[in-house]
Amino acid sequence: MEWLDRRYRQGLAHGHYYAHEPIYGVGSPYSEPNHVLRLARTYSVMRRLAQMEFQSLLDVGGAEGYHASLARRLFSAEVATSDLSLEANLRAAELYGVPGVASDAHWLPFADGSFDVVLCCEVVEHVADPVAVMCEAVRVARRYTVFTTDHVCRFARERRIRLLLADTQSPHSELNWFLPEDFRTVLGDNVTLERQLTLEHVPGSPVGGEEPGPAEARSLVLQMARIGGRHTADHGVLVVKARESAPPVDISQRGDVGPLDAILHHQVQSAPHGAEETMAPFLRDRLACPACLAALLTSEGYLECSTCGARYPVERGVAVCHVPDQHGEAEQIAASRWPWMEEPGKAVRRIFVTPRPAPSRLLCYLLDLELALTAGAGTDATAPADYSDSTEVRNALCAGGLEKRSPGSMPPPEVWWNRLPATGDEIEAMRALGAVMVALNARRRGAIHIWRGLLSLASRALRRGLRLRRRGFPDVPTGFWARPEIEALTRSGLISGLSDALYHPDRAVSRADIAVWLGRALAGGDANVPEHAGKPTFADVPATDSRHKYIEYVVAKGVMSGYDEGVYRPEQTLDRGHIAIIIARALAGGDAIPAGLHGRPTFPDVTSEPGDPYRNCHRYVEYLAARRIVKGYPDGLYHPELTCSRDQAAVMLYRALTQMR
Ligand SMILES: [Zn+2]
Repeated sequence: MEWLDRRYRQGLAHGHYYAHEPIYGVGSPYSEPNHVLRLARTYSVMRRLAQMEFQSLLDVGGAEGYHASLARRLFSAEVATSDLSLEANLRAAELYGVPGVASDAHWLPFADGSFDVVLCCEVVEHVADPVAVMCEAVRVARRYTVFTTDHVCRFARERRIRLLLADTQSPHSELNWFLPEDFRTVLGDNVTLERQLTLEHVPGSPVGGEEPGPAEARSLVLQMARIGGRHTADHGVLVVKARESAPPVDISQRGDVGPLDAILHHQVQSAPHGAEETMAPFLRDRLACPACLAALLTSEGYLECSTCGARYPVERGVAVCHVPDQHGEAEQIAASRWPWMEEPGKAVRRIFVTPRPAPSRLLCYLLDLELALTAGAGTDATAPADYSDSTEVRNALCAGGLEKRSPGSMPPPEVWWNRLPATGDEIEAMRALGAVMVALNARRRGAIHIWRGLLSLASRALRRGLRLRRRGFPDVPTGFWARPEIEALTRSGLISGLSDALYHPDRAVSRADIAVWLGRALAGGDANVPEHAGKPTFADVPATDSRHKYIEYVVAKGVMSGYDEGVYRPEQTLDRGHIAIIIARALAGGDAIPAGLHGRPTFPDVTSEPGDPYRNCHRYVEYLAARRIVKGYPDGLYHPELTCSRDQAAVMLYRALTQMR
């Protein structure tokens, strides 16, 4: 939500709000790119609305109120918008005078059947529980609900792969992919589905690139919104659910192009309406408690639920109706709102709400490749010629079209997904894949056997990758606080369990353990840790000791050191004060760490005061705290005196690695 609020505040200080939709007209630099695509989507929705009889409309996920205001203008309906972000609703009020409510699409603050039409465009691919959002939109609609999404797959296998590839970490990411039949399964009878757009034979690349002028835009939109057969250039679906009281829409109708001209001329000036101080009665009368759907009572500056007592603030005429956190049992309560949902619909819901693993970079390549192969699509050769900091692997992957990030933003080859070092095997597999892709692009003719070989290589590696990802330590169960870090580091080959195949998270970490882990991390993988030539430095770590080369390496790097009498004491445990010194040196590449920051120490028990027994750790702990690598205990102390356990060490190492170049 923070991300959305920031998004919808963008540009306000500069006189032009930076709009989501082309509200200032096609070609304006003050709105997000791909104007023609956006106009074509809008047109495809408006021509279906033109077939419906309605007096009221709610736009769920309505951003700055563009669609709602268009519907008001074209169909003389009373309209409202609802967006998670308060800022988006404020923009809708300022730009168009469209009333809005800040609410979560999973929990709409309206009683059943509050609006004749509910619009929900390009929302369901972004939300945590898309089936809940679909059901809520239908619940609140009296006659029609209209959904659009461009995240549609042709077959179940493609959907499964795309779900695995979805990046669940970044804000406002696209989490969900749908099969067209999902909508019928979830929404029941009286559902029509049509292709939203076609991108086939549309010249001038309307997706990205220069924005065309109004005349060209008009002709492009008409081509993209053509009615007719399905083919591979189809883009998205438009779904209409008609309630019992409403006749289904006729999707064979081309629709009137009148709305299109109105859309092309539907521009606002940057001079805003100014936010309203009171809520529009049209919207106020329809609001209900999002948690229990009971009536809301108006008080000074807030609304209060007549049944559960929850309070919802009103900010500049916009009610903020987010379900209280402590509401609990969200899933059961929400499901009781959609009594019509049947078991197949619930099964579709489970597909989306089941937690997905964060994909490894290699897995992404393989899945992407498999997708390209199963979908029958080729790959584009996009090797950048001017990429100076290139490596064999990186270039090959870019050339093969497997790596789609810009090369400049790619981390070094041994540091991939989540900036974690890949194992030697993974790098080998990527190298092989990249080489084959290059060969394939160089000689497309006669390449069919290469495709086949590649597919078998990919699926073998894929199976192996999936197997690897399922393995875990029995004593590091799901939900254990350090499990993601321990798993990621294990998968990368940086850390390992003890000889009994357990991880023993609560055991103290030894000086030898930490030398082995850091040695691998600093060298970019186990295979790259150099053998130590010459006489062993420490009497208690002979060359026959399996940890010898790691210890020599981290000592040579200035990260750790031995004791005065020429010993290393590999089995000795470390306290949290000492581990901070080691991790900080590893991250800083030596001891060049500022002598401590000015101001109050982050932890009252690690200071630079002369009497503090841990004052020699102070600058290192501050260095790590500033980078969020150590966060201390709930009591606000760092506790440098406590022994560092293997789970704590893994978490610190993981956090430090995510910041290493
Ligand atoms: Zn309530």
